[in-house]
Amino acid sequence: MKTPILLKTTQELKKWRESITGSLGFVPTMGALHAGHLSLLQASKAQNSHTLLSIFVNPTQFGANEDFGKYPRTLESDIALAQGVDAIFAPEISEMYPNKDEITLNPPKSMGSVYEGAIREGHFAGVLQVVLKLFNLSSPTRAYFGKKDAQQLLILQKMCKDFFLPLEIVPCEIVRDTDGLALSSRNVYLSKEERALALSIPQTLQKIASLIAQGESDVAKLYDFGMNELKDLQVDYLAFCNHSLEPIKSIIPSQTLILLTCKVGNTRLLDNLWI
Ligand code: AMP
Repeated sequence: MKTPILLKTTQELKKWRESITGSLGFVPTMGALHAGHLSLLQASKAQNSHTLLSIFVNPTQFGANEDFGKYPRTLESDIALAQGVDAIFAPEISEMYPNKDEITLNPPKSMGSVYEGAIREGHFAGVLQVVLKLFNLSSPTRAYFGKKDAQQLLILQKMCKDFFLPLEIVPCEIVRDTDGLALSSRNVYLSKEERALALSIPQTLQKIASLIAQGESDVAKLYDFGMNELKDLQVDYLAFCNHSLEPIKSIIPSQTLILLTCKVGNTRLLDNLWI
């Protein structure tokens, strides 16, 4: 299997991009790779002549009291896991942000100020800023994002649409551990006890899915059921919305998203269900 080329500067990335022909699949990440990230890379490799992975812990999407400093950084083992990828772009912060007082983008309030956006002020502006830079540097044919970060995925699709960006966003299914917990680089923060407690997150979503499959469509009832199941956890939000992130009162199959975010110890865990 081929070893990826490691690109550290924007110049190196641009030169590499110019040297390849055919389609390019791009998988942006913050590293500490797990099987969720690898599934995005697999999808890209299956659909494109080349695959680029980026590893960058982006400071502008972290709030002042968040885990930017302690976020796991494991570049060497990430490179080993990414065998078969053509190139890895792993820049320093100064490469991505060489200028002062940069222009930033904000998602519309209806999408960016709710759920994660209400709790993490400025988070999505940071995500849009770095992803637009990465898209412009790499000119991908397709870019791969996990459905696990549902709000991020929908906001990025909106950015591509609003700015006529010439690429396709490919949503990828959530990859879970054998016990059902959605894989996340932040799961390493969980103690054994916290991890056991966290299992009620996917379990509650599954129970809600079963009730919906049995015909329950009343969101108020599903919400009360879910909150009761989650009574031992600190729930940030359990929300039922459509793909524009607007709240709904009744389940509409294939247009419904159920978002669940809890704080377990000091770790925030996101999960969701696309119905
Ligand atoms: P991150 O490194 O956490 O910024 O994630 C990089 C990409 O991997 C994002 O598109 C995430 O949605 C995606 N991702 C993270 N965890 C998972 C997972 N468990 N299953 C599928 N995709 C994931």
